[in-house]
Amino acid sequence: MNTWITKNGIRIHRIICLYANVYVVTGHGHCFLVDTGPVAFQRFLARQLRRLGITRILGVILTHTHYDHAGNAAFLQKKFGSMIMVHPAEARYLKKGLSSVPGGISVFARVMERLASGIEPKMLKFSPCEPDALPASKIHKPFFDMPVTVMATPGHSPGSVSVVVDREIVLVGDCMFGVIPKKILPPFGDDVGQIISSWQQLLATGCHTFLPGHGFGVSRPTVKKNILSLSP
Ligand SMILES: [Zn+2]
Ligand SMILES: [Zn+2]
Repeated sequence: MNTWITKNGIRIHRIICLYANVYVVTGHGHCFLVDTGPVAFQRFLARQLRRLGITRILGVILTHTHYDHAGNAAFLQKKFGSMIMVHPAEARYLKKGLSSVPGGISVFARVMERLASGIEPKMLKFSPCEPDALPASKIHKPFFDMPVTVMATPGHSPGSVSVVVDREIVLVGDCMFGVIPKKILPPFGDDVGQIISSWQQLLATGCHTFLPGHGFGVSRPTVKKNILSLSP
């Protein structure tokens, strides 16, 4: 587990569910989560939350509704009575408990996409839950009485959002990947052009660190280099 602390004392803990990150944000006496990990890691997640001494979770912001981010939303809603917040464009996937299949960007991902779209594998399913939808506007503030805003960053999926904490750190879901050093384009995504314009908006927040749903933190220079290398 890693922890970041902002200038206003907001703490961000990263729980690594093997290949997917869950972020626990605490401050001003409140706690909320960004993403929930895959359902196979439910007990692990509960154990890590206990380790952190978390007994109340006000809300869960889902960066999007793929199974590895929304897998434990129903569990957290039931156990903690947390509000589950998701962009309206993806609320229906949460209600059904089924991931949309994103388009493959890399060759490998395109093969995976073909396989996934044909057979609707069990792994894309998770427990459905009734969401408390986020408003459809581009930026919402403030959240949970904390210096936290949520912004729409579509491209990986139509309703992808990022959570900006204290104008220092932003939790970006799958808008960026932190698995391969210096390469942040996610292997799957619906619209590469939209992903790049979301990166530009994320840079405009002034944040110095971008924490993705998979892998390690990404720096501003890395985001800038990726925009340059992928722009026509
Ligand atoms: Zn995803
Ligand atoms: Zn993911």
